[in-house]
Amino acid sequence: MNDLDPAASTLTAASHYSLACALCSARQRDDGLLLECKRDHPPALLRTEYKQQNFMPRLDKRGLSRYQDWLPSPRLRDDVGRTMVYRSSGLGNALRLPNLWIAFNGYWPERHADLETATFKELEAGAVLGRLPESGVFLALASSGNTGTAFAWACSRAESPCLIVVPERGLARFRFRGPLHPSVRIVSIEGGDYSDAIRLAATVAQIPPFQAEGGIKNVARRDGLGAVLLSAYDEMRCLPTHYFQAVGSGTGAVAAHEAAKRICAGRPGLTLPRLMLCQNWPFAPIYTAWRQRVNSDEGALREAGTRVYADELTNSAPPYEVAGGVYDSLVESAGDVLIAGNDSVRRAMSMFEELEGIDIEPAAGVAVACLREAVRQRRVDGDSVVLLNVTGGGRKRLGSKYLLVQAVPQRRITRQLRRDDETFRALADSFLGGYRCR
Ligand SMILES: [Zn+2]
Repeated sequence: MNDLDPAASTLTAASHYSLACALCSARQRDDGLLLECKRDHPPALLRTEYKQQNFMPRLDKRGLSRYQDWLPSPRLRDDVGRTMVYRSSGLGNALRLPNLWIAFNGYWPERHADLETATFKELEAGAVLGRLPESGVFLALASSGNTGTAFAWACSRAESPCLIVVPERGLARFRFRGPLHPSVRIVSIEGGDYSDAIRLAATVAQIPPFQAEGGIKNVARRDGLGAVLLSAYDEMRCLPTHYFQAVGSGTGAVAAHEAAKRICAGRPGLTLPRLMLCQNWPFAPIYTAWRQRVNSDEGALREAGTRVYADELTNSAPPYEVAGGVYDSLVESAGDVLIAGNDSVRRAMSMFEELEGIDIEPAAGVAVACLREAVRQRRVDGDSVVLLNVTGGGRKRLGSKYLLVQAVPQRRITRQLRRDDETFRALADSFLGGYRCR
């Protein structure tokens, strides 16, 4: 261990992990909020280092807390669900992949999948809230839809203050099994996109006591999402050779890679899965950066974002170059980036529902479409052990079982107002007033 921070030299019983910088290896004790290394150097992610070095699921737990020893979340709730993993016969037979495993994230009671907002973002929301100090933190975050719904529902159940900024078209996903607790506030941006939401949330997060959730920089977000791979290893008893996932920011894929490295560190001889990252063409900044070595033009991406089916993947500034980020994970895992167009995605969604018996989200359809194409191109074959991350599914099933309540934003603003700092401050103040009145 390089450059040990004396404060982190002794792991106490309450601290089952410490944080280490991906670039300079400096270690820090976590306060539940840290997002960056304190040293002056190019951007780099912090990583968790756990006292428990072997994969040791808590066998008496069914939900995410089964992996408590590898989550930086001392206050993780027992009611946070997790990924269900099974070996596919329907899609596996159709694609002639006898070793196709599905990591299903969503609602599917027959398979005991119980993520109530129907995507794997619930793993990150549960882990992030479980990491926060007990009180005094008002989370501010941006979402294109699924992250926001996961946080809204998790914060509502925990009665934690939270401000969520979402583009108007993402609001349709804000439907829940009951009304949200008043601690959860939603701002929608009329005519805005995900980039607008990110900018507004970042501005509000600078106004105390609001706190940026941090996106990929938040170790709890990554380790929560990485639990997909832990569930897979738990069920499969081996690591896949290929890991397919649709990506917007790529955080989930970086997280899966980190989780695989953690498993491999405790079991020499295992090989890291190849990351096969999937994007919905023409919105594909990670594909363009990886395959063509060029950065996408922001204006072109904004226009492309209006044309893709899987709008939850429209992150125009993915953490590609940050140390420990998407590029590094692709290189370390000998991975690749694939694309699928809208028609192919729609066909893949129908195919999955027909063969496996459950509806899936457009993002998951992107992964299925790219997997199908990878089989056709013989990038994977009958000898491959493939893990397909179905990042969201069962929303239709959830809607048929429960009368879902549509959440209404407390404030709607127009895109023209988004660069007006005074408007943001007034907005933040009005929310703080609301919290004080509770
Ligand atoms: Zn550092």
